[in-house]
Amino acid sequence: MLRLPLNLPATCLISSAAMLLTACSSTPNTPLAGAKAHSVSSAVIYQTESKEYPTLARYVYSNAIAALPSAFNNNDVVVMDVDETVLDNSQYQRERESAGLGYSSESWNAWVVRKEATLVPGVSNFIQRVIERGGKIALVTNRDKSLDNHTWENLLALGLPLTPENACMLGRTPADKAAMGQEGIINDKDLRRMSVKKGTVNCSNSTNQKAWSTPHNIVMQVGDNIEDFANTTQESANVDELLPHIGKTLFLLPNPMYGSW
Ligand SMILES: [Mg+2]
Repeated sequence: MLRLPLNLPATCLISSAAMLLTACSSTPNTPLAGAKAHSVSSAVIYQTESKEYPTLARYVYSNAIAALPSAFNNNDVVVMDVDETVLDNSQYQRERESAGLGYSSESWNAWVVRKEATLVPGVSNFIQRVIERGGKIALVTNRDKSLDNHTWENLLALGLPLTPENACMLGRTPADKAAMGQEGIINDKDLRRMSVKKGTVNCSNSTNQKAWSTPHNIVMQVGDNIEDFANTTQESANVDELLPHIGKTLFLLPNPMYGSW
């Protein structure tokens, strides 16, 4: 596929396609006068345009489906991250980079409120299988908890069969950071995973909060960041120790755009 560099000279943008090929071919990387446009990173192009990204994501999810039990026990739960695990936010990244800007919490929150994130390839089938087989899903995300309703509505608009009964939205609160360092709490999602296990969580899936007040058994964890796995940090993660669990109870998706690395 022909991809036009975003930093083509302005005169090229109004040229015919034929002229583009001749007039611009010798200066494909010349910045625009005034530097109004910015090129996007290889990471964004990889996630949005490569064949490798959807192939890998679907491969991970098809393996995760193969590892699911044929029927879940009561209160068995799959813990999933949201961003770049369920929702694809490459449009946000593209918009920021095209404007020559980076991440900011303000722009991120505004993006979440827009509810325009799309689905990571393969995730819809996976979630459907979990629900069909009687499983539950805990969505442990580092989006701020005040945004949970927006995230939930984005997920429902994409057709995922999530209900307040089968899924629990758990955005981040200040308590998650404050708890780090306590016994069994190494990263900022551990408190929430522990609360799911104990049955002490309030799920904010909608305007009606619903508590999961019975203990749950975490049977699988899915994420794009090594810290989406319990008791793991980027610094402490031991790949040799994780590897036997990858593809069985732990599933890791590619995310070239950002991470804790
Ligand atoms: Mg993520």
